[in-house]
Amino acid sequence: QIKHSGKNGVRRFDAALDAELERNAVLTRELQSALSKEQLSVVYQPIYHLESGELSKVEALLRWTHPQFGAVSPGVFIPIAEASGQIVPIGRWVIQQACNQGRRWREDYGWTGTVTVNVSPMQFAQPGFLSEVRQTLLLSKLPAHCLELELTENALMQNPASVQRVLGSLRQLGVEITVDDFGTGYSSLAYLRDLPIGCVKIDRSFIDDLTSLRRAPQYAVALITAIVSIARTLNLRVVAEGIETHAQLEAVRNFGCDFGQGYFFSRPLDPDRVSELLDRGQPGALPHLSKRLN
Ligand code: C2E
Ligand code: MG
Ligand code: MG
Ligand code: MG
Repeated sequence: QIKHSGKNGVRRFDAALDAELERNAVLTRELQSALSKEQLSVVYQPIYHLESGELSKVEALLRWTHPQFGAVSPGVFIPIAEASGQIVPIGRWVIQQACNQGRRWREDYGWTGTVTVNVSPMQFAQPGFLSEVRQTLLLSKLPAHCLELELTENALMQNPASVQRVLGSLRQLGVEITVDDFGTGYSSLAYLRDLPIGCVKIDRSFIDDLTSLRRAPQYAVALITAIVSIARTLNLRVVAEGIETHAQLEAVRNFGCDFGQGYFFSRPLDPDRVSELLDRGQPGALPHLSKRLN
């Protein structure tokens, strides 16, 4: 009996694994030409300053629209791009897109905010990374202080000496560094003190827990309070990501988070939709947020 179901279980597992390996192989192959076939695009999600309601930043998020598979989730194709090394040219392209777009928003709407771009550990570890960023800024004519790079804790923990050097140079250029998904990686807190980091982004899971029934909210409250307190002491800004409800917005504002991002404000948008937001004026201020504050 047990043997029988065990055998079945193994076979089912094999089949699932085969299917996934097969899918990954297909996606790796298809991703090879995705850039040249113009299947990749970048959308931008607004990040608001919670006190003024201003549109302070937008996060560049990569999208892949495959002619047969449709929209492939970044959760699926980013790990594939990282495993195959394709994230290096693709990530370079995203930074170029974001810088060009950011400069257009500055020129056309007088926007003074920053574009923030996710950078994979492997991309960041490339010897040429720093000079690429420098060159992209020059070519796009985006001021360096209008570019921010998001790195995860794990990326920052990789090679302390070289991370310190690259971040130091970026910081000197004026590029801001944000720790993404803060609180979920394997890291020590010392890097917050030792590295030139300007901002931490509290992971969405903590914001989720504030109002979810799965876990007691007091843990999330304690963790977010502690993160904000550490950030204050180290003079870091705090972004809360994944705000989906008004209750979550009120909570993170009360905890003292500086910026908010999430579906409650806006989904990631095509560049034209961001332009419309900026066109509506008050340098893109969030109407209902600023109204409530005034
Ligand atoms: P991330 O950097 O933590 O980005 C935030 C993700 O949360 C985005 O998912 C965004 O659409 C989603 N999100 C924002 N607000 C909400 C909300 O209120 N509720 C929920 N449920 N989700 C929300 P997306 O675009 O699917 O990207 C997933 C991840 O893929 C990103 O997580 C990032 O790690 C990676 N990624 C995306 N674009 C790039 C890229 O250009 N380069 C690299 N290296 N990674 C990227
Ligand atoms: Mg991010
Ligand atoms: Mg994040
Ligand atoms: Mg995340």
